[in-house]
Amino acid sequence: MNKYIWKKRMLSAIALFFAIAASVFSPSRAYSFNIETTSGGDTVKWSSSAATFLVNTTNGPSFALTSIQSAMDNWTSVASSNLVYTYGGSTSNSEQTNNSENIVFFGDAPSGFVGWATFWYESGGAISDCDIIIEEDFTWTETYLEDLATHEFGHCVPLAHASGSVTMNATVSAGARFLAQDDVDGITFLYDKGTGYSEAFVGVPTMNEWGMMLFISLACGIAVYNIRRVNDSF
Ligand SMILES: [Zn+2]
Repeated sequence: MNKYIWKKRMLSAIALFFAIAASVFSPSRAYSFNIETTSGGDTVKWSSSAATFLVNTTNGPSFALTSIQSAMDNWTSVASSNLVYTYGGSTSNSEQTNNSENIVFFGDAPSGFVGWATFWYESGGAISDCDIIIEEDFTWTETYLEDLATHEFGHCVPLAHASGSVTMNATVSAGARFLAQDDVDGITFLYDKGTGYSEAFVGVPTMNEWGMMLFISLACGIAVYNIRRVNDSF
């Protein structure tokens, strides 16, 4: 075989390799937020992109309303999202029930938790109610109450727990009131205003299983070809 033909074949092989590689890479998720879905697979979200919450500050600290309103603002102020949380005044209700009245109140949170959000939705995934209970027997600081409330309002978006240093991490750390990019991506995914979603989802391509199999087969093929080429001295 003359040198020129070999080179040409080698170039075709390389071109083929890249063509195959391009078809077997899948974009991976470059984010870790988790949305909520119904058993039928519908996305759970507010249908009107606006949710009004009433607050019962009884048994809460003096700064309760300030922290809770700041927590609502933390989500509302995401520029790429349409969802707006509004403070609708006070309430004397202190029960988590599906009554179309979204409330935040202080009480006895489930054991081991200092806050708990519960949301209800209709069969298509439209949220009908979201209520947040905040532990009354906890020594709150103004900022940590905002941290915790921001996390709970995240469950009302609704976002599920996520990994990493994010507001929606199951463990609510000091500073959770500052949304991470992942939290911003989550609310944007659900209520995209058309300003940030596409930029937020530039994934890193990773090889899928078919790609991995083809890659290994091709690598073996090239190895066998080269061994033969050396042995046959062509
Ligand atoms: Zn949580």
